[in-house]
This record gives sequence, structure tokens and C-alpha cells, in this order.
Amino acid sequence: ITSNSFISFPNSNTNTKNGDLAESPSDAVEESGPEKTSPSLARPLPNSIAVKDNIATADLPTTCGSGILRGYQSPFQAFVIEQARAYGGEVTGKTNLDEFGMGSHSTHSFFGPVRNKPPFEDFSAGGSSGGSAVAVAQGLCEVALGTDTGGSIRLPAAYTKTIGFKPSYGLLSRRGVVPYANSLDTVGILSQSTKIILKTFLQLGQHDIADPSTLPPKSRKRIAKWHAKMTMERRAKADISKPGFANLKIGVPIEYNIAELDPAIRRAWQNALTLFQEQGCTVVPVSLPNTKHALSAYYVLAPAEAASNLSKYDGIRYGTRSQLSDGAGDVLYSYSRGEGFGDEVKRRILLGSYTLSSEAIDNYFIKAQKIRRLVQRDFDRVFSISNPLRPPQQFDLSDMDDSVLLPDKLGPCDVDFIVCPTAPTTPPTLDDISKQTSVDAYMNDVFTVPASLAGLPAISVPYKGYFPSGAFRNPDAPNSIGIQIIGQYSDDVRVIATAHKFL
Ligand code: GLN
Repeated sequence: ITSNSFISFPNSNTNTKNGDLAESPSDAVEESGPEKTSPSLARPLPNSIAVKDNIATADLPTTCGSGILRGYQSPFQAFVIEQARAYGGEVTGKTNLDEFGMGSHSTHSFFGPVRNKPPFEDFSAGGSSGGSAVAVAQGLCEVALGTDTGGSIRLPAAYTKTIGFKPSYGLLSRRGVVPYANSLDTVGILSQSTKIILKTFLQLGQHDIADPSTLPPKSRKRIAKWHAKMTMERRAKADISKPGFANLKIGVPIEYNIAELDPAIRRAWQNALTLFQEQGCTVVPVSLPNTKHALSAYYVLAPAEAASNLSKYDGIRYGTRSQLSDGAGDVLYSYSRGEGFGDEVKRRILLGSYTLSSEAIDNYFIKAQKIRRLVQRDFDRVFSISNPLRPPQQFDLSDMDDSVLLPDKLGPCDVDFIVCPTAPTTPPTLDDISKQTSVDAYMNDVFTVPASLAGLPAISVPYKGYFPSGAFRNPDAPNSIGIQIIGQYSDDVRVIATAHKFL
């Protein structure tokens, strides 16, 4: 398979040139030379599913793209895989990713970087579900599963011209999904078709008795009834001379118009909004004042949870044991972890361990949790429907300084959805990325992490509009731009339906 999107395992039914497990990352890269073109299917097989390799499958290894889990075989399969199979889905392969889902370009994998769809192999495919996105983009599967903790479905979708959907937190089970940051992790869906995304979402979005973070049936019923009531209210208020879709109110967050935004992306965003207007929707500015703190809060919270989650990979409970260890104590741990984890994962463990330390927890971890609440409150304040899980609450924000508690600039709004770009730039080259600092890479997530912190449904759809020549900073870059639609918690179906209309 070209582009390193699939990981090849022995005896797997993936469409690999030879079924050998790559012995080392360099072998894996070697295998994926661009000259070995894939038999790209004109139409993917119905029900074929590619699965990101941090989702457990009982018949294929689950490596999380990490050296520490090379060859690891899960004794059980994830609930979402059980569900997919129950509906006739067939897992056609496991896809490459940033190690444990940590990254924005799918370059931090033990198996080597994911390559974007030809002829753009030298450009980022986005991360961390880059392998799943490329598998969809190349027509190698009908649908791909990935995970989205801070944008890992939406960013690859934007960089590969595919559709990527992150559901509301807690609607899809995480059992069998190797945790990165439990309070943010969601299983997400990539496809070329919104209809297939909707079908897959409805099939997989079931309560799982073994995952206490999935919404129980009672709450699902309550929310469904409440949505039915909202729909009636909306219909009663709607202008019946317009089609249903035309009554939507779209919010444009003013804080997302950042200086770093590529002019081509800004233009695509404007054009997309005009498209909504042309179809009769109302477009209004909204303020999400805490957006500017969201990225920093995310990069405190996610590594903190990761540091805790990854402590089990010690060469004893989980993970490949170093040959150099004497089989006892600290040396075993440090050699096994030192050899098994890649640099980005080590960086996150150090960051997370620091922000959770007694010295730093108040200034970093606790503050970031408060910012998370503020980000959630910003969203709740602009959506026309209230959050079914969160009645308005009082937060103890007494020790926050004023720069965080910004006044409400634009007053109350009542929008159905927020529309913004998925990423601030078009896909960078792998060469550019190799020269970037980690913080540069983190910047890519600026538009995706707010919805993650708030647990909201969000979808990235490819912008297909017109561009004048010379619109791109890098004229060779693929003109791959994602437009993101974010909705209120549990408004998933309407988010997908709006994306469908928009396409
Ligand atoms: N790029 C983000 C990170 O590295 C998001 C990753 C994800 O959603 N899994 O944490």
C-alpha cells in the first residue's frame, strides 16, 4: 500500500504487497515507497472499514504506532468494532497514526510517517488519524475509524479532502480504545460521504455497559425527547416560505480570525459563509472570548492525562521489555520506557508529570480545568439550544485574573451552529514540519481544541469553492481546506445533516 497509511501485519487481510510485519521503522518506510502505487479502488468495497491502530481488534495487533506496543495483540476487541461487525462491517486493515494519538501530522509513528495521497506525498496528511484519512482519500475503504482528542479526525480530514466527524463526547464507547486523554478522547468517523458517516454514527453510537463514560439509555431517551421538542419549537418559529435549512442561524466566532490565518483559508471561510447566506441562512458574529486560552489549557490537560495513562507501559504490566534490563526495578522501567516511547510521547509525559506535580498543579492543571469550564460556558452562551447535560452553573473563578474573565462583547446570541476553518493553514510539507518546534505543531490545533474541551460535535468538510490563482502561500500545496461546523452537545445528527447540505 502506498503512503504508509496502513500498517502491515502478518496474515492480515490488508492489501499489502507482502504481509510481513515491518521489523523496524525504516523497513516500514522502505515498504511504502511512492513508486509502489496502490491498486486504488475506483469505489471502496461496501462496509469496508479501516481502523486506526489505537482501537483494539482481536484478530490484528494493536500497536498505537508505538515501539513499546510492537506486536501487541489485544485479548478483546473494542466495543465500536463489535458494533461495526454486528452491522456487517468488515475491518480491512489497521491504519498508521501519531504514537498514541499524540501529534498533528502523523509523523510521530514507530512505523514512519503517513504520506498524503499522491501526488502530495510530501505534504502532511494531518494527524493523528492521518492513516485513516489517507485510506479514505485513496478509496481503500468506505469508512475509517479514528480517534479525536483535540482534532485528530478533523485535521486529517481537512488535509486530505475527506469528511471527518467527531461526535459529542460520551455518545460512542471508548472501551477498547487505548486512552490518550480520557476526558477528551472520542471515536470519530472519516468518509467521503456524509450519508455513510451518519449511518456509521447511528450504528456505533450505542450505550456500552462496560464504559461508564458513555451516556446511559435513560439520558439518551431524555435527550431525544428534548430534541423532538426543540424541533417542534423551531418549526413553529420558522419562516415557512423558506426551506427548513434556510432558517438556520450560523455564528462566526470573531476570535477565530487570527493573524496567523492563511489568507487563502480566510477567503475560503468567507466564501463558505456566503454560501450559507445564499441558501437563506442568517450569518452573525459571535464572541467566544476564552478561545485564546483554549490551546494552552488543552496542552496542559491532555499531557497530564497522558502521563497518567502511559505509566502502565513499564515492561512488566504492558509493553516490550528492554533486552538491556536486569529484570528488576527502576532500570527495567527506564530502559523499557526509554527505548519504547518516541520523543513526542516522552515530551508529553514530562510535561504532564510536571503540571501534575505539587509544585505546579495549582498554576497549571487546576487553572487549565477552569479555562476548560470557561470555554464550555462560551459555547453554551451562543447556542440557541441549551446544553442538555449542563444546566447553567456557578463556577468558582475567584482566583482567575481579569485577562481570562473577559466581558461579553456581543451580548447573547442564539445560533444553531458555529462555522470556522478546521486548520489555520493548508497542509505544510513534511520537510517544513521537520524544521518546526513542537509548539509550532501544537498551533495547528487552535481551531479544533475548543470543541474538544467542551465535548461538542464537530465535522470538517472539504471546501470545494473557487480560488483565484496565487491565493496560496505555498503555490505547490494541495488546495485542501476544511471548513468546520460545530454544534451544541448532542446535536450530532443536525451537524452531519448541515454538512450534507453544505457539500
Ligand atoms: N494534535 C493534538 C495532540 O497532539 C490532538 C491529537 C488527537 O486529537 N489525538 O494532542
